[in-house]
Amino acid sequence: MAGYYQCERCTACCKWPGDVNITDDEVGTIAAYLDMSQDEFISQHTRLNKNRTGLSILERPNHECIMLVDGGCKIHAVKPEQCKGFPNRWNFPNWQEVCHATWQEGEMDS
Ligand code: SF4
Repeated sequence: MAGYYQCERCTACCKWPGDVNITDDEVGTIAAYLDMSQDEFISQHTRLNKNRTGLSILERPNHECIMLVDGGCKIHAVKPEQCKGFPNRWNFPNWQEVCHATWQEGEMDS
């Protein structure tokens, strides 16, 4: 039966090392959501990603995404496609060992 993995907001994926890639459109949406200009958002909250192909949201020294605040995502309503797409649209081997998403039968809300 068709199904999908439901995020349980464990925030494990917000604590992994690596890029949180954002598109140009997402820069605009997130900056507006945070009530700042795109330049302010880019200079204060992003860096060049590892491949030097675009921007990534900054992380803390312990690898936590800087948008992870008080156990939740500060920009959940406008979070990047990379975050929304995990673990249904992309994942990696043995991801279930570190992610608490639960299997749900039926269609995922778009
Ligand atoms: S933007 Fe939000 S969901 Fe994405 S890694 Fe950062 S805290 Fe997690």
